[in-house]
Parts: sequence; C-alpha cells; structure tokens
Amino acid sequence: MFQYIFLGTSASAPSVHRGLAAQMVLHDEYRFLIDCGEGTQRQIMQSGIGFKRLNRILITHGHLDHILGLAGILSTFSRWETIDFLEIFAGKIALERIHDLLYTVVLRGARPAMKITFQAVQPGTIFETDDFSVSAFPVFHRGSDSFGYLFAEKPRRPFLPEKANELGIPPGPWRRDLVNGLPVHLPDGRSIMPDDVLGPQRPGTRLVHVGDVGRTESLIEVCQDADLLVMEATYLEEEAEMAQEFSHMTAHKAASLALQAGVKNLVLTHISRRYRERDVVAEAKAVFPEAIVARDFDAFQVRRGEFTRMEWKEE
Ligand SMILES: [Zn+2]
Ligand SMILES: [Zn+2]
Repeated sequence: MFQYIFLGTSASAPSVHRGLAAQMVLHDEYRFLIDCGEGTQRQIMQSGIGFKRLNRILITHGHLDHILGLAGILSTFSRWETIDFLEIFAGKIALERIHDLLYTVVLRGARPAMKITFQAVQPGTIFETDDFSVSAFPVFHRGSDSFGYLFAEKPRRPFLPEKANELGIPPGPWRRDLVNGLPVHLPDGRSIMPDDVLGPQRPGTRLVHVGDVGRTESLIEVCQDADLLVMEATYLEEEAEMAQEFSHMTAHKAASLALQAGVKNLVLTHISRRYRERDVVAEAKAVFPEAIVARDFDAFQVRRGEFTRMEWKEE
C-alpha cells in the first residue's frame, strides 16, 4: 500500500492556492519526496507530515520550479539536524544544477549538517526493499535528462488464515515463517509447507509519477495497468501548439495516455494559472471519466484495486 500526498500542484510559478511542484510517496517507514519546488518546506509543515525520515528526494528534472526548494530545506536541516543523511536522485544534468544550488549558494564552503549523497539516475531500479522497488524511466521534456518514477510492490502470495486454522497451525513464529515462504516444523512433529497456506500470487500495487513531459508514446508500457498515474497537465487542448512548443501535456493528452495504458486512476497536477480548474477537470474527464485534478494537500491511499482519498494523520 502506498500513500501519495500532493504538496504543491502549480506549474512554473506559485499561485495563491497552489504551491510549486512537490509530492510525497510513503510506503511503510519509507518516504520519498518527488521534486522540491520553492516553498516546499512550508508545504510540508502545513500538511502535517513533518520532516521525519525525509531522507530521499527524487527529482524529475532540473527546471527551477522543481528544485529551488532544496536550498530552503537544506538550510533548515542544517539548523535542526533532523535527519542524518540525505540522498538526492536526479539525472546527471539536473544533479549538477542542484549541486551548484546547494554547495555554491547555500553552503559556500561550510560542511553540510548531514551526509548528502547525489545519485545520478539511470533507467532501471534505483531503490529496493524486500517488498517494493522504485525505478526510473526516461521522459521526454525540453532537453534530455528527465525521469519519471515507478513505485512497485513486489508480487506476493496472500496468507490464508482459514487454511492455517484448518491445519491447526498455532499463532506465532510458524505463521510468520510460512508467510515468508519458509517450511515449518510444528511442536507436534508435523511439517507444513508454504504452499499449504498461501494463495496464488497477486501482483503488487503500482504507482507511476510522470513530471513535466512533452510526449507520451514511450510511456504506455511503464504505465500499463498501473493503479495510479500522476501526471502533469499544464495546458488545455485549445493551446495544444503551445503545449508542444514548451514540451508539456494538455489535460486531454494526459487523459488519453491513461486510457490507452489502462491505468486504474489518474490524478493531474502542475496546473497553470491560465485556466480555471473546472475546465481542466472537464477536458480530462471527457476522455478518462475518473480523472482528478489535484489540489495542494490532497492525499490518497493506493492499494491494489483500491484508491481512496485520505486525511493525513501523523502517527
Ligand atoms: Zn515544471
Ligand atoms: Zn520543466
């Protein structure tokens, strides 16, 4: 299960109601900030999520509306020392710009309060645990070096408690080992195999984040059947030419990708001040009826076959 929180949903410049690009993906104890536009630290505070475990930041590309907030966050972290390491993932060119921002502008020779690692992103897996992975894929946007990110739970076989009860397997470590695919020997001498208590394999939840993007052809495969696609929609179709010129999506094109790839849910962000929100919603819904246009602090829970709006509560 993933949680996805929109911290900033505006394109290029902030508006009264929308901060600049930033969103957070949470999975168990892991947190990933995706992009960090100017003002993100205040959005994080206002959202109630806080800065705890904010150790990993994934950047889609190096345009200023997606990275300027890193300077403020580093400056604040230097005083509070709330985390002990920070990993920044981005394409090589974006990383150079971020490095300049942090080391030349913010730190100017001072030592950072925490260990900062710059991870140059290549297509493929960039982070992995036992039960999920994060991978990067190339995205076409002005210049090269833009990436989208796929969060994917690994497929798993569900534990069937009724089978375990039938077999008289007592609660405790035996059940845990079986869940983890290990055969167990019960105190009464019987051996139980994982196959006896696990159901057929089920695919894991998949969540795709695409930042600024001008073309969608190459994205169909990675988006195929995703439980959630989050994508920019800076323009409306009436200005499709301008969208193309600046290498951005129209709401119509983003929704068309969602439809073509058979995604289950679509949330649009990176919304321009030039349009009324309801016009963006209408254009997207005409193609993909379930489409949602995100507002700052919208939060969703994404589980295979389940997509629910949630109130963020700090544990
Ligand atoms: Zn942007
Ligand atoms: Zn951009």
